[in-house]
Amino acid sequence: MLPLEAGSSASTASARVEARIPTASTTGAPKEKAGSSTIPPSRAVLEGHPELFEPRPTRLAGAAELERLRTVQAPRVMGDEAMQQVRELHGMGPEEIPGPYVTWFKDRSQDPFGGGYHAWDARVDVENVMKFMRRPFADEHVHVCGEAYSDQQGWVEGAFCVAEHMLQDWYGLAWPTWLNRDYYLGW
Ligand SMILES: Cc1cc2nc3c(=O)[nH]c(=O)nc-3n(C[C@H](O)[C@H](O)[C@H](O)COP(=O)(O)OP(=O)(O)OC[C@H]3O[C@@H](n4cnc5c(N)ncnc54)[C@H](O)[C@@H]3O)c2cc1C
Repeated sequence: MLPLEAGSSASTASARVEARIPTASTTGAPKEKAGSSTIPPSRAVLEGHPELFEPRPTRLAGAAELERLRTVQAPRVMGDEAMQQVRELHGMGPEEIPGPYVTWFKDRSQDPFGGGYHAWDARVDVENVMKFMRRPFADEHVHVCGEAYSDQQGWVEGAFCVAEHMLQDWYGLAWPTWLNRDYYLGW
């Protein structure tokens, strides 16, 4: 996630950041291994539920058009779970947040993609690199936010914490009312 303000150029900034940060060998960037096996996906929620979501034609996308998307639909239980979580999050029911018309699912942990994650190398000064990445240049409003430079790598929460930290540090946002005061956002 790279929020940019006027006057910043993403490609120039990214080249400048790359030139200044420690190299891949010190940041612990995942290294590709030739012929390595991929991580089997967690299938607990899908176990025994092979049925796919049934697309619902709309005024803009008719049944014939949707037919070719039939094989890429998400498993039905996955769609149901996602909608249940979205409704719970917003405290609303199916009347206010109706189900989708169509879904799309791709399991990126399967070959030829494989799973991927970030990890800090043991020699990296994590505290300082994290702070540095949230604003690499004092004269630019360029902020590198995400799980990669968090202290909860491999988790969405790492990305959220870095984004929250950046907003408070550089845009003066107050601590959110919905977030426990003792919550640890990382360095
Ligand atoms: C197989 C797998 C399972 C996971 N399971 C879980 C889990 O159960 N729970 C959990 O909390 N976390 C899980 N994670 C980790 C979680 O997905 C990541 O931590 C999270 O998505 C990181 O969010 P992010 O915003 O930092 O980066 P991303 O979600 O990776 O977002 C970065 C975005 O930038 C885009 N992008 C990249 N380069 C460019 C460019 N040059 N120009 C424009 N766009 C670009 C990418 O396409 C991408 O959309 C899993 C990860 C994997 C791979």
